[in-house]
Amino acid sequence: MDQQMTYGDDYKYLPATSIASGKGKQLLPDLYCHTIQIVNISMIGNPHKEQEGWVLIDAGMPDSSAAIIAAVEERFGRDSRPLAILLTHGHFDHVGAIIELVNYWDVPVYAHELELPYLTGKQAYAPPDPTVDGGLFAKLSPLFPNEPINLGHHVKPLPSDGTIPMLPDWRWIHTPGHTPGHISLFREADRSLIAGDAFVTVQQESIYKVLTQKQEISGPPKYFTTDWEQARQSVIKLQALKPSLAITGHGLPMQDQALTDSLEELVQRFDEIAIPTSGKYVH
Ligand SMILES: [Zn+2]
Ligand SMILES: [Zn+2]
Repeated sequence: MDQQMTYGDDYKYLPATSIASGKGKQLLPDLYCHTIQIVNISMIGNPHKEQEGWVLIDAGMPDSSAAIIAAVEERFGRDSRPLAILLTHGHFDHVGAIIELVNYWDVPVYAHELELPYLTGKQAYAPPDPTVDGGLFAKLSPLFPNEPINLGHHVKPLPSDGTIPMLPDWRWIHTPGHTPGHISLFREADRSLIAGDAFVTVQQESIYKVLTQKQEISGPPKYFTTDWEQARQSVIKLQALKPSLAITGHGLPMQDQALTDSLEELVQRFDEIAIPTSGKYVH
């Protein structure tokens, strides 16, 4: 008998919605980004070669499965389903609809081995820290779910050698700090990066900036980041890849010189830009 999947006890719909919500953007013929309220999901795969398969990255906000399926079917056609769902990490805003999606499509989920405790009901994330600076969104963060979901045997660890099942051109890069098993995805051939929350292009602590999606390079969302030294090393690692295009978990995609300059600035001024001036997880 199939094991029951469950969300955490504190799982709930959150009514925050940005101006980008419901919109999608094709960055490359096989790379598409779509905003669910305040978080981005990505689809890797060319709709003109749908039969070759495609992969979904992250699973949006709680209660967003209908919106995700609609976005998928708009891009890939009716009844299309991914070969797999990859998770950059297990925060509520990246796994919000995962159980409905797995039930609907019956596809495997992959995540980093170190993220599995948070995806199999074994461990809760450290509680969000409302004392970090940056705005009202940070203050409201205690409302955000942090209890683990349980995907049971539906979630599998990514291969340890950096390869990604079903995406031979891509590799995963361990970018911890925001969470222990956080990953980013990179394709060498055209230097495309899906950064997850390793860095984001909006100041995610500010409700105003989240709702208006004002583009601004930022470190990982402050209220949910627990290891700032690791977070710094992860940004340095991503900058060294010299990405030409980045889709981040929050904010609008960034490209070319703007991305190069912004990443350079983030690395140089990480203490100032990224790390909260005070907070539970700042030492
Ligand atoms: Zn996160
Ligand atoms: Zn996030």
